[in-house]
Amino acid sequence: MSSLVAHRKAINRRPVGVRVSFQLVQPATPEEAVRLLAGASAGQMSVLGGGTDLLIDIDQARASPRQVLSLRKMPWRYLRWEGSSLVVGSTLPLRTLELDRRVQQQLPGLWEAIRDVGSPALRARATLGGNVGRCSPASDLLPMLIALDARVRILGPSGVREHPVDLVLQESRKTNLGPAELIESLIFPSAAPSTYMWQRVQPVNDISQVGVATAYLPDAPHWRIALGGLQPRARRLSEAEAVLRSARPTHLEQELAAQEAARRAEFVSDKRATESYRRRLVAVMVRRALQTTIDRMPRPAAARKPSR
Ligand SMILES: Cc1cc2nc3c(=O)[nH]c(=O)nc-3n(C[C@H](O)[C@H](O)[C@H](O)COP(=O)(O)OP(=O)(O)OC[C@H]3O[C@@H](n4cnc5c(N)ncnc54)[C@H](O)[C@@H]3O)c2cc1C
Repeated sequence: MSSLVAHRKAINRRPVGVRVSFQLVQPATPEEAVRLLAGASAGQMSVLGGGTDLLIDIDQARASPRQVLSLRKMPWRYLRWEGSSLVVGSTLPLRTLELDRRVQQQLPGLWEAIRDVGSPALRARATLGGNVGRCSPASDLLPMLIALDARVRILGPSGVREHPVDLVLQESRKTNLGPAELIESLIFPSAAPSTYMWQRVQPVNDISQVGVATAYLPDAPHWRIALGGLQPRARRLSEAEAVLRSARPTHLEQELAAQEAARRAEFVSDKRATESYRRRLVAVMVRRALQTTIDRMPRPAAARKPSR
C-alpha cells in the first residue's frame, strides 16, 4: 500500500475505493428548493452551495445524504448596495466580493477575511451562505460577519425571516436553520472601518489558530470585537468592547481591551495551538487590529491638510 493510500485510510472513515453515490437535485426556483427540502426525510437531503465543505464531508463520510440539492440555479449570485448597506446573495462566490473595489474600501475587514480564505480557485466556488451553513469554529469569515453585525435572510416554508448572524450560528455544522430553510442573502447594515487578522502555522491552505475581527459601527455600541478559533464557535467579546469608550481610544484603552479579550476568550488546546498560546496571540492581535481600524477611520476635518 502506498503511503498516500495509507494516509487516506487513516484520515477517512469511508474505506478507500468505496464509491459515494447520491442523487443530485437541481431546483429551478427558491420556492421549488424549499418544497423539495420540506418533502425530504430527515437527514436524507443536503444543500450544496459552492460544495467546498460539503463534498469533503461526503468524501470523508462525515455526511452520507441520499440526495444533494444544488443551489446553482438560485437567483442569489448578486451583490448590491442599498445606500450604505451591502446585500450579498448567499450563492455569490467569495471571489466576486474580493474583486469588488467598493467592498474593499467600505468594508476593509470583510475584504481581508475573504481574501485570506484558501486559494483563488477555492474562492471562485466557496460562498458566504456555505460559510455560515458550515459554522466552523475556525472560519475566517464568521468573526468578521459578527463584528459587522451582519444579518441573515432566511427563506423557508413559512416565508422569509431575518436575524443577526450571531443568533443563527450554534456550533460546528449546526445553525438555527430549520430543515427546509435556506440562507437567501446576507446584509451588512453599514460601511465600517474594520480589520481582520489571523495567525496560522502556514499562511496558505491552513486553518487559522486565531482570527481577530474589529469594527467601528455607526450605531452604538460602536466598537465590535469578535474572535475565531474559539469553541464552540466565533463570538463577540462585549466585555472587551466595553473598555473602548470613544472612536479613537488611547493606547492604554486598546491594551486593556486586548487583555480583557485574552482573559475572556474560551479557547481550547488542540493540534493547531495550545490554549495559552492562543491567549497570547489575542492579547497582541486585538491591540493591532484596533489600531489598524482607527487608522482606517476618516480623519477629522481639522486634521486634514488644506488642499492647494
Ligand atoms: C482547501 C480548503 C481551504 C479552506 N480554507 C479556508 C480558510 O482559509 N478560511 C475559511 O474560513 N474557510 C476555509 N475553507 C472552508 C470553506 O471554503 C468555506 O467554509 C466556504 O465558505 C464554504 O462555502 P461553500 O459554498 O463551499 O459551502 P458548501 O460546502 O456548499 O456548504 C457548507 C454547508 O453549508 C450548507 N449551505 C451551503 N449553502 C447554504 C445556503 N444557501 N443555505 C443553507 N445552507 C447552506 C451546506 O448544506 C453545508 O452544510 C477551506 C476549505 C478548503 C477545502
